[in-house]
Amino acid sequence: MRNGYAYCQIIYEKGDAVDFIHEEVNKGYEQLTGLKNVVGRKITEVLPGILESNPEFLEKHFRVVETGIPDQFEIYLEALKKWFDISVYSPKKGYFVAMFDDISERKRQEIELKKMCEKLTAAKEHAEECGRLKTAFLANISHEIRTPMNGILGFSELLKDPYLSGEEHAEYVDLIYQSGQRMQAIINDLIDITRIEAGEAKLQIAETPVNRLFHFLHGFFKPEIDKKGLYLNCTTALPDEDSILLTDGLKLNQILTNLIQNALKFTDKGGIDFGYTRKDGTLQFYVIDSGIGIPDNMKEKIFERFRRVDNPLNRRHEGAGLGLHISRGYVEMLGGTIWVESIEGKGSKFFFTLPCNLPVSSVKQSHPPIIQDIVDAVPGVTILIAEDETMSSFLLKKILKGEHITILSAVNGQEAVVLVDRHPEINLVLIDIQMPVMDGFEATSLIKKIRPELPVIVQTAVSTKETIKKAAQAGCDGFITKPINMNKLLEMMQELLNR
Ligand code: ADP
Repeated sequence: MRNGYAYCQIIYEKGDAVDFIHEEVNKGYEQLTGLKNVVGRKITEVLPGILESNPEFLEKHFRVVETGIPDQFEIYLEALKKWFDISVYSPKKGYFVAMFDDISERKRQEIELKKMCEKLTAAKEHAEECGRLKTAFLANISHEIRTPMNGILGFSELLKDPYLSGEEHAEYVDLIYQSGQRMQAIINDLIDITRIEAGEAKLQIAETPVNRLFHFLHGFFKPEIDKKGLYLNCTTALPDEDSILLTDGLKLNQILTNLIQNALKFTDKGGIDFGYTRKDGTLQFYVIDSGIGIPDNMKEKIFERFRRVDNPLNRRHEGAGLGLHISRGYVEMLGGTIWVESIEGKGSKFFFTLPCNLPVSSVKQSHPPIIQDIVDAVPGVTILIAEDETMSSFLLKKILKGEHITILSAVNGQEAVVLVDRHPEINLVLIDIQMPVMDGFEATSLIKKIRPELPVIVQTAVSTKETIKKAAQAGCDGFITKPINMNKLLEMMQELLNR
């Protein structure tokens, strides 16, 4: 429906259209434009500046008048802050009739729709990118898990051969162990990523002897470096006794291990320099290699999860694309930044900073506990292991193997409670959470009712906040996650037995 019309005469100056004058308008025109008493007045009078800000406005009317061909167009008049749909025809030379409609609302909706479409397109592209990453991730993860799985299953099968030489036997066991470690590394990476992204990763700030960590890493990587015929240089900026940093040592170790592992993976000639320097209140750590380098367009992206430079289906190197994402997460949690400088074909330099928190006191020199310490602390110690999985219980017994340690076993929570009741000589209980008949939570609270002073360490593969809270509510004295870190377990046992 056309709401307004105007009948106008074009005004010429030296043959050019310069303005038009209103001859006749209807009420709709006045309502739509908000202009009153326009008849006999030029458009430049009633809407000053209109021709300058909309040159095509006059031009389009003029063309209809000159050619006699009707036209229809949409135009935005800034002065009125409105969109109009205008149909123009010329009934006689020099004159035109313009019928127009206010389409501002439709235009507003169109603009919003366009914005929404743009957002949807961006979301679609993001989803597609996520989809591509997911595919790459699954391709990587399935490779990363299948390869060590193959190693473990394949070599376990070979171990059954009774005619194996001692050397072969040792080699297969070593390969099974390495495969297990690789599996554990990928699982740890996945757990770390989940924790970082859920904001659940916790820092354990303590006095960390940085130089000692560097010497350890140098020794740890040296055999692999030698195998590849590379060099490995380690430079520390502070004297050993001053190189104590207040930070999370385990996370620092993990960041450096990730970077050195990558350097080793992507370097075939030359070698690796790693170390740290002291700069404006921070320690700046570096790992520099002379490897394949990183293309410019990937220098930021490789810190995103699942990002790898090479095509996952065309892989030359192992990796799920998680290490750098985790490293960046940890560096940022520790108050630093991480970045890379690299030239393709020449090598890469990874840097990260940490605040230079040097403690006032010096570190306590303590050695990790050994089984003898426990035996010395409590002569004739008796430990109850409650664990339904034969493999885990076997491993615990091996860790605790000692002449003067007596081990009692239970395969479910109920058995554990009965044994505690019958054996007052038990000094400590190691209990699993997920067990048949009665779980570790219930068993712990019953054990604590029978002997409140008896230390109970809960061990589990699931270390969520919820589990830890439930274990504490049941009254446990220590909590340890599987795979069990032997030193940590012994340390905890020693402390509880000495109480
Ligand atoms: P992963 O190495 O397990 O794939 P990372 O997150 O540690 O995962 O690294 C992501 C990617 O960054 C690697 O796949 C590799 O393409 C690139 N990259 C990392 N470090 C280096 C390096 N020192 N030299 C060359 N490329 C590297």
